[in-house]
Amino acid sequence: MSKSSWEAVLERLDEAAELSKIDPDIHRVLRTPKRILEVAIPVRLDDRSVEVFTGWRIHHDTTRGPGKGGIRFHPDVDADEIKALAAMMTFKTAIVDLPFGGAKGGVRCDPSVLSLGELERVTRRYAYEVGPLLGPETDIPAPDVNTDGRVMAWLMDTLSMIQSSHLPASVTGKPMALGGTRHHSGATSSGCVACARAAFRELEIPVVGSRAVVQGFGKVGGPLAFLLSSAGMRVVAVSDIGGAVANEGGLDIGDLSNHVAETGSVAGFAGGEAVNADAIWNIECELLVPAALGGVIDEAVAGRVHAKVIVEAANGPTTLAAQPVLDERGVVVVPDILANAGGVTASYFEWAQARQGYPWDDGVVAERLRHKMDEAFTAVWARSQTLGVDMRAAAHVVALERVAAAHEARGLFP
Ligand code: NAD
Repeated sequence: MSKSSWEAVLERLDEAAELSKIDPDIHRVLRTPKRILEVAIPVRLDDRSVEVFTGWRIHHDTTRGPGKGGIRFHPDVDADEIKALAAMMTFKTAIVDLPFGGAKGGVRCDPSVLSLGELERVTRRYAYEVGPLLGPETDIPAPDVNTDGRVMAWLMDTLSMIQSSHLPASVTGKPMALGGTRHHSGATSSGCVACARAAFRELEIPVVGSRAVVQGFGKVGGPLAFLLSSAGMRVVAVSDIGGAVANEGGLDIGDLSNHVAETGSVAGFAGGEAVNADAIWNIECELLVPAALGGVIDEAVAGRVHAKVIVEAANGPTTLAAQPVLDERGVVVVPDILANAGGVTASYFEWAQARQGYPWDDGVVAERLRHKMDEAFTAVWARSQTLGVDMRAAAHVVALERVAAAHEARGLFP
């Protein structure tokens, strides 16, 4: 039987605990999520029948601050997966040193078959049922798979109505009209670019003129390719679900975006030659960014990657077995938990602005995001050098040490 998501998280936690030598009692506490709420969500569908969905909100650890984590709507979601994702948020928020703990939520449903009205009723009833856990000082949800700003607006409205109070800091990823932050949509991509720049600096690779290969041209990959090319890099290949295009001199990302907007895929772009999607892994480059799916860099792919640095924009793109192969070949991997933390960092900024009642300018958000990501990268890089481990292990160590320090300072209640 393959390992469950939660078992995989425990393995990471145990490894980091061993490397960091944290107090075994704190390690034991972190091996169990703080609280799990499972709720029934009865909803009247448009045909007047009633469907009962199942939802969860889980807090893994809230010692460093209120729970933070997305809400996903997906037919395959279950408690084990949400537990694992909540624990990953504990690590992620600690790596970027945000004053949050780790939480996650989900509803087992297929949003593609729900009408807009049904989706809204699912969201509002879910918000009501898990409402006792949520709030600006306790747990702040954000969008995740199949949820967006519209769903966040319904959540915020429901929580505000229940409490007869305006609660903009109770949710992040809100539309701008409701107090969303500038720079939220491009934050994950900007964070990845900050990591790539920092890695290049450490490895003394020039940014200008270097070659980048990007898998995925969606919400993360699209803006990311644009930012890399604006920084002076040559984006020599891009792939998506429809195919791949390459151009040794660098693709024109503006033109490519227009092509994707018209046709839905990078395939058939006249500004490059069509290549096999699988061939992108063989292309010699300084930077490789998987920004599509999990598990794409397996042992075999790792053996033929010709990149100096991999920045994991996607969640879990590198398999467990592939990591040692990359380590052996001297490829520096900036792990997902650090590389794609720009999104949660922007969420933190949105929460802070809502609490201040004072929106920040675009430049302030961008500069603070760059600074946070740079600091996080530097801490993880330094720990990987002193421990002699890869950046993924080092990132978990940095996170665990911060979480453990908070536990130690607060002590065990009562
Ligand atoms: P998206 O749906 O907007 O884009 C996904 C892209 O991947 C599309 O271009 C799609 O064509 C491409 N793709 C799908 N299957 C492919 C395949 N077999 N080969 C090549 N390309 C393929 O999704 P997104 O929001 O850009 O997210 C991408 C990854 O980043 C996911 O792993 C997600 O979990 C992670 N992530 C996203 C955010 C965010 O802010 N959106 C934050 C953190 C992590």
